[in-house]
Amino acid sequence: MRKPIIAGNWKMFKTIAESSATAAQLKPLVAHTNHCEIAVAPVFTSLRFVADRLEGSNIQVASQDIAAERGQGAYTGEVSGEMLRDAGCSLAIVGHSERRQYYGETDETVNRKARAALDAGLRPIICVGETLAERDSGREREVAKRQINAALAELTAVDLDRIIVAYEPVWAIGTGRTATPQQAQSMHAFLRSVIADTFGEAAAQDVRILYGGSVKPENIGELMREDDLDGALVGGASLDAASFARIVNYLG
Ligand code: PEP
Repeated sequence: MRKPIIAGNWKMFKTIAESSATAAQLKPLVAHTNHCEIAVAPVFTSLRFVADRLEGSNIQVASQDIAAERGQGAYTGEVSGEMLRDAGCSLAIVGHSERRQYYGETDETVNRKARAALDAGLRPIICVGETLAERDSGREREVAKRQINAALAELTAVDLDRIIVAYEPVWAIGTGRTATPQQAQSMHAFLRSVIADTFGEAAAQDVRILYGGSVKPENIGELMREDDLDGALVGGASLDAASFARIVNYLG
């Protein structure tokens, strides 16, 4: 059984005071939730504050990015996995489409960042997904396969155990246009089969594959009914504690 994970990506929203307040509001709303793992990803400057607020709770802290380099060094503007651990993170989002689109992240950097996260003891949430043009030209599988194979290059089945994949079709992120449960299921099953080709069926069956793209309290239930959907990466609807809690508590 794969335990679902519901993670909120707060993107470049919220000051320290605001993210700390949202974390404090969220805590009691999900205190009795144990059907899924829960995580929030604030901006770097808020990480330590949010982690302190969530200390002892069932909500984990994720970073939205991570340096490809390890430890410390002359890499202006970068934050290493070790520093993210120090700031209270246990997870790191890697290869989000906004980073690929606006900051030139490539399949190769995504792989380096995923490996850096693992080396630092963080679990990477590796994002893959096609653009609208790629879907419209029928290339969604080809793109997702290339992205996942590149992201997982040089990793072992032991590493795979600590990896989370997020399928996030770019056309569904922040657009209000969600993939249908069938479209998502079809891509998730495909991604699992691609992972199985490299790592074997048993290892692939254990990997959590999250869906991301305009997930809301109103559509999480139908998405989670699909066999290969193991949770969600939520952007906009995670910014409000009550809305995110409704998504986390989709069961009841
Ligand atoms: C995301 O940022 O990963 C995301 C899926 O955003 P949204 O839920 O707003 O579409």
